[in-house]
Amino acid sequence: MPQITGLAREDKLARNQAIFREVNERIRELASRDLASGFGSSRMLDLICECSDDGCTAVISVAVDDYESVRAFPARFLVYPRHDLPQIEQIVGRGRGYEIVEKLGDAPTIVAALDPRHRTNAQVIG
Ligand SMILES: [Zn+2]
Repeated sequence: MPQITGLAREDKLARNQAIFREVNERIRELASRDLASGFGSSRMLDLICECSDDGCTAVISVAVDDYESVRAFPARFLVYPRHDLPQIEQIVGRGRGYEIVEKLGDAPTIVAALDPRHRTNAQVIG
């Protein structure tokens, strides 16, 4: 039986987070379309927690401005309070009802490659 190494596990967890981010990017995109008139940067987005638990269903509310400032960093994710995993990420910021974590080790390379905003064919979300 091949052993699941710590690194493989880290890779899997990072991919889970990248999938949650994709969903949130869609939510953010749809919100800006729906409310093209009067879509303000202080508007709240109801997002899914971007923690590494693929069964997590926690919802976090984040202002568009704050969401955008996190998305500027491919290795950062928004998670429900205490959904961070200190072995693989560190908390770099906090908001009302959420925490911002940054990936450690090799994971930043993985999640950056999966970042829709950093793919060559990525569309700019306005
Ligand atoms: Zn979570």
